[in-house]
Amino acid sequence: MVRSVQRTAVVWLIAVAVATAGTAVAVAAGADVVPATVDEALAMGLERIVVRVAVAQAADVRAIASWIEPWEVDLVAGFLIVDVDVLGYQRLLDLGFEVSLDAKRTEKYNRVLKALPDQVEGIPGYPCYRTVEETLAAGQALAAANPGLAEWLDIGDSWEKTAAGGLPGYDLRVLRLTNESIGGDKPDLWVEGAIHAREYTTAETATRFVEHLLANHGVDPDITWLLDHHEIHVLLQTNPDGRKHAEAGESWRKNTNGAYCGTSSPYRGADLNRNFDFYWGCCGGSSSNPCDETFRGASAGSEPETQAIQAYVLANFPDWRPDDLTTPAPPETTGVFIDLHSYGGDVLTAFGFQNPPNATGYMTLGRKLGYFNGYNAQLGSLYPVDGSTKDWAYGRLGTAAFTIEMGTDFFEECAPFESTIYPDNLDMLIYAAKAARGPWRLPAGPDVVAPLPLPTVVAPGEPVVVDATANDTRYEVGSGEPTQPIAGAQLFVDIPPWSPGATPIAMVAVDGQFNSTVEQVRATVPTGALGNGRHTVYLQAIDSAGNWGVVSAAFFWVLDPAQAAHIAGDVRSAAGGQPLAATVTAGPFSTASDPGDGSYDLMLPAGSYDVMATADGYAPFTSSNVPAVTGQTTPLDFYLAPYVQVLDDDVEGGNIGWTAQLPWAITTEASSSPTHSWTDSPGTVYAPYLDISLTSPILNLTGLTGTTLEFAHIYDLEAGWDFGYVEVSANGGGSWTTVASYNGVNHTTWETVAIAVPQLDGVATARIRFRLQTDGSVQEDGWHVDDIVVQASVPPAADFTLDATPGTAPICAGDIADYTVSVGAISGFSNPVALAASGNPAGTTVNFTVNPVVPGNPGNESVLTIGNTGGVAGGSYDVTISGTASGSSGHSVQVTLEVVVPAPPPALSAPPNGATGQPLRPEFQWSAATGADAYTLEVDDDAGFGSPAIVETGIVGTSFTPSTDLAGGTTYYWQVRSENLCGAGAASSAFSFTIESSLAFADGFESGDTSAWSVTVP
Ligand SMILES: [Zn+2]
Repeated sequence: MVRSVQRTAVVWLIAVAVATAGTAVAVAAGADVVPATVDEALAMGLERIVVRVAVAQAADVRAIASWIEPWEVDLVAGFLIVDVDVLGYQRLLDLGFEVSLDAKRTEKYNRVLKALPDQVEGIPGYPCYRTVEETLAAGQALAAANPGLAEWLDIGDSWEKTAAGGLPGYDLRVLRLTNESIGGDKPDLWVEGAIHAREYTTAETATRFVEHLLANHGVDPDITWLLDHHEIHVLLQTNPDGRKHAEAGESWRKNTNGAYCGTSSPYRGADLNRNFDFYWGCCGGSSSNPCDETFRGASAGSEPETQAIQAYVLANFPDWRPDDLTTPAPPETTGVFIDLHSYGGDVLTAFGFQNPPNATGYMTLGRKLGYFNGYNAQLGSLYPVDGSTKDWAYGRLGTAAFTIEMGTDFFEECAPFESTIYPDNLDMLIYAAKAARGPWRLPAGPDVVAPLPLPTVVAPGEPVVVDATANDTRYEVGSGEPTQPIAGAQLFVDIPPWSPGATPIAMVAVDGQFNSTVEQVRATVPTGALGNGRHTVYLQAIDSAGNWGVVSAAFFWVLDPAQAAHIAGDVRSAAGGQPLAATVTAGPFSTASDPGDGSYDLMLPAGSYDVMATADGYAPFTSSNVPAVTGQTTPLDFYLAPYVQVLDDDVEGGNIGWTAQLPWAITTEASSSPTHSWTDSPGTVYAPYLDISLTSPILNLTGLTGTTLEFAHIYDLEAGWDFGYVEVSANGGGSWTTVASYNGVNHTTWETVAIAVPQLDGVATARIRFRLQTDGSVQEDGWHVDDIVVQASVPPAADFTLDATPGTAPICAGDIADYTVSVGAISGFSNPVALAASGNPAGTTVNFTVNPVVPGNPGNESVLTIGNTGGVAGGSYDVTISGTASGSSGHSVQVTLEVVVPAPPPALSAPPNGATGQPLRPEFQWSAATGADAYTLEVDDDAGFGSPAIVETGIVGTSFTPSTDLAGGTTYYWQVRSENLCGAGAASSAFSFTIESSLAFADGFESGDTSAWSVTVP
């Protein structure tokens, strides 16, 4: 606190110095003041300056790093960067070094931190980094929200908490993550943030890592098995006392132990990363001077923060090696220990003072981590270090322990943190969590990537084809890590490879031969023995050197269609009601709507889903917490609002009204849509000290909502110092809000960005602008912007919808007709809807099971029953179902009541009446009768049809040939009835016919005349 107060005074002094002395100090766009030389900076009263020191060899670095921690070391370029006060500066000169001012960093570290105009949380000016209090509140809330998965442990105290009469201090809190319902020995990952207080990115990376893990358990297959089968321990704020100074803008590194260098000295405290109890202070890698930045503390493990970490880790991690400097940890070792630092882009192994016995395995894992974050793996530290956390964790336990130096600054700007540092190191940490199962062996093996890129849902018994890529080359680029061809791959269903009962299914090389360092692999998983629900496949590949890699997982679902839950309905335009070709997505499941009628049917496991519908040209809409119930269909209709484009500029039509501060101009140097784009510096690099904007014309978004800004861009902006800002104004340009910022290089491939800008919803005088801000040194190509679109949608008026199924209900007179009436909501309409029916035939009754209906999303239902239909004549009747509700002009839907009566008999045609000589199986024919669905044929030798020889029902069509013989010479009668919904109707008039005699000769000797016969007596 003391120092930040002093800093306010210092800044004021600088302003005075500039105003009075009129020195050649550069002034950046009316903002901050930058001294040009060390003398100038000291003359201005700056308490602490950042200098660049020329170093020729490692011994030079050691001579400095033994008492002050370099920010950066670049022996190739021959410099290091440190921050010093007057005494430190003199000490460097006395040691014979050539020292020059790093003007940019000096200005930055003497800047008073100021909250951004709309900032309410986070470190002032750095809203992406939570404060200690915000971090601890987040950790506590995560544990409370995830019982059984996360514990919020108090592992000890910060120094202030242990000191009598001091500040209250803090508990040191570890979030311990694992699925407690799954037992077994679980490998451990330790991650700690901000042991060095000023390293802003580290605590936030640790915090977001745990947030990512907890949000994705049960969602992401890899995160799910990691939390099920591993233990992850994260100390979010390792040095909270020191961190409070850093949050006030001080370049604070150590803890705040007042026993060292004076109770209120800004140089007090111990460097916790030199205080650990393994070869503490052994090797010139720390300082014995309590005022130095690398002061190692009074004794090994003297600091309460160190003691807390050591005790917790010793209690939770297995010990794999003796505490010497020469015995390697064995291949079966488990555990990874990550100490997050900034900055430099390095992955550093133990030991800080000599090579470790596991050097080869260490470099392999280090280069693997470097694949994800692009950092440089190296053995040991950049200069001698002793008493570090990584040396202690590896030295005492054999755990693979690393210092990760993230990013390019202590007070890293938010833009590179959000765009690169966090996402890259999240991937690094997830890999580290996987590797904890065998850090000295698994990293040499191949990764399995992109298994099952889409969610797979199969019916019981239907096999699942699993495709993936096995890749043995995923190491830090150019690191020289040896790679081998893939030799095989396998997968396991539901039981991970390390668990009893795990059965491998071999995967094949898709090209027929395992011979490449990157292979497409495939296996077919039978599902006949699997139950309904989600299943996990665990995949693993091996290289030709016999190294198995880490496991990757994928989910698939077995769903019996009869038992599956469904969410179904229509996707329509809110403007005209026309059906839309849309995609409907719920978690990992998605389906397309039928463009013809907008209908969709999403089959998925039972659960509660946020269901989103998207269609080109329409604002997407999400319906939250939609229940899906086994064996049932949840109705859910979407009415999407069409986008209205209020700005659509492909930069091909000249300046359409932009206000371009020079040198912003249209160029053909580069473009996304050929051939033009806007750029800040046509034909050249940008100038120093620019603050220039490209501002849109006034945009009228009255009555519109869901505003989004889209544009395509490439940029080359000096990392950490020159920025492109995208800003929006809701008052015609009077004030601006930053919605995105860009920094660094993304200069080869045009990227299209879509940003939601709800600030502009409904605004009549909206503007957007692209603003370039540069500092005094290093000029790059700058920013190109193209294809700029601002679009929004007309919010659909709150209203209800009415649907009824079936559209036509055929009944027989006397039966009832049921129609299901669905009442849906648009834009949250919730007034009760009173239902009525009209147009039903006279004498019938109508009844609704629910009336009125409160519309919901998913829609509520009522059933309309039309009864007392006995007296209704056959025919179709249009019935109108109408709904009325306050706040709506009302809606109606028409259904048809089709009253069916028995159909008249058909006219018979063949055999014609009285026909003779008919075959034993005559073909009967008749003409179609109106209203008949089928026919019944009766044939009898009795004109009264008392015992028919043939009764055939359900004849579709108008003819029938018997499949058995009638009796020869016999006269028969036949008749036909029409059939329909209401059964068989009246019989036709009967026809007769006679079958031909089937015998060539017949004599029953009844006549007594035997004259035609002759008798021979033997
Ligand atoms: Zn550090």
